Amino acid sequence: MSMPVSQVLPLLVQLSEIDSALARLLAKRKQLEEQVEQSQQQLHSLQRDHEAKKGGLEQRRAKIREEERRIAEENEKLVERRKALSTFSNYKVQQSAQKEVEQAAKQLAGQEERVLVSMEELEALEKEVAELETAVEKAAAENQELLDSAEGEIDSLLERAKEKEGQRTEIASQIDSGNLATYDRIRNRHPVDPLVAVQDGKCGGCYMQVGAQMLVQVSRAASLVKCRGCSRVLFLPTEGDGVRP
Ligand SMILES: [Zn+2]
Repeated sequence: MSMPVSQVLPLLVQLSEIDSALARLLAKRKQLEEQVEQSQQQLHSLQRDHEAKKGGLEQRRAKIREEERRIAEENEKLVERRKALSTFSNYKVQQSAQKEVEQAAKQLAGQEERVLVSMEELEALEKEVAELETAVEKAAAENQELLDSAEGEIDSLLERAKEKEGQRTEIASQIDSGNLATYDRIRNRHPVDPLVAVQDGKCGGCYMQVGAQMLVQVSRAASLVKCRGCSRVLFLPTEGDGVRP
């Protein structure tokens, strides 16, 4: 047997209020989880950037060290070659050897110049890596802070949701299965407001004009009356009986 609509309607209104509160709590939870996810992604991307730049920096450092070592070796060789110049007895051979030494010294000077430029670039890269490191530390601290606060907030949201679930079960147990099934069907289509008050002769959901005959049906409350436009259940706002104004 179906319950009289006058009894079931206030219960359904309460149920829809609980359901929309539940939906808001779950949406808030989802939003928090997305915030945390986003913050973690940003942190990981910064960390990857930092690692990559740091790796590049170390490679360049090693390359410059290797180049400096090679230039020092070449310089030592040049010193030996210069010493050897005085031992040449043939003037022409000596002249040509000296020319070669000078050519090699010129080349080496060019290489030293390039190492200096590389070292300047290295300094700029070191600065960039240091800045990234600071950014990573800052992001990690912010991420941790967000994680901690979100965790607490999510816990409290879940607690409130659990409380609402309890209220829902209690109210739903007072409603007959037929009306409850009707309500659930409408809620599938209109999760936020399955039940709406008639306002100024219009449906509070889709604002379609409610005909005079239908208004009479709503006020008689002999059965659940659904809007012709959107199928939400219509009710008349009354004061002081727990029904939403
Ligand atoms: Zn409607």
